[in-house]
Amino acid sequence: MSMPIAIDVDRLNFSFGSGVLTQPVLKNVTISIQQGEIVLITGPSGSGKTTFLTIIGGLRQASHGSVIVLDQQLINSDEQAKIKIRKQIGYIFQQHNLLKSLTALQNVSMTLEMSNTMTEQQRLDRSEAMLAAVGLGDRLDYKPDQLSAGQRQRVSIARALVGQPKIVLADEPTASLDKQSGYEAVSLLKRLAKESQTTILLVTHDYRILDIADRVVELEDGVIKKV
Ligand code: ADP
Ligand code: MG
Repeated sequence: MSMPIAIDVDRLNFSFGSGVLTQPVLKNVTISIQQGEIVLITGPSGSGKTTFLTIIGGLRQASHGSVIVLDQQLINSDEQAKIKIRKQIGYIFQQHNLLKSLTALQNVSMTLEMSNTMTEQQRLDRSEAMLAAVGLGDRLDYKPDQLSAGQRQRVSIARALVGQPKIVLADEPTASLDKQSGYEAVSLLKRLAKESQTTILLVTHDYRILDIADRVVELEDGVIKKV
């Protein structure tokens, strides 16, 4: 039995600039990713990985080809469609992007503040459970500066997952971590994602973590090399 398709990209073309300054960045990119699948996109710096991720995440508008995310067409879509998609996606960035003045618990729970179906206590309880799941149950009241780089990235993982997203997009999540904590962070992300059938699209040029993937795809100069 095959799972539904979470991300379906067909002949996506994307360029920066216009006229003589046009720089093609993604060239006929075609890929389908099933719900619950963990796909790593690797490839050299400048090959278009971040650009691709931002289009999938509804953070950047593309206008050529087809990009269907959770049954929503994002090519030439309006802002409402992109907002709807963003609400169903968790993001993890290279730098943790945590707010320095907030504790780990506050950083995670603020993600849930858009939800009007939960009380504040429910938001805090869910966030606390998520932080416990990433091994930080005893660091709830610590601020980012009081945590190690690996712990901060685990807070980011908790923040990305706490809203129970269908898809997590991660851009070089291990780039600021040493080998050991980088591997631990992505293994943890994988375990939690598999428990909840969350789809993960992770871009990296960190070859040390490729084995967590169900599938590795290489992007070179805007072209997918192998699928
Ligand atoms: P990667 O994440 O694989 O390193 P990027 O998607 O960031 O690659 O960049 C792909 C290409 O697009 C690079 O040549 C980069 O210089 C260019 N690029 C990225 N962002 C912009 C932007 N906002 N404006 C113009 N060019 C950009
Ligand atoms: Mg990048």
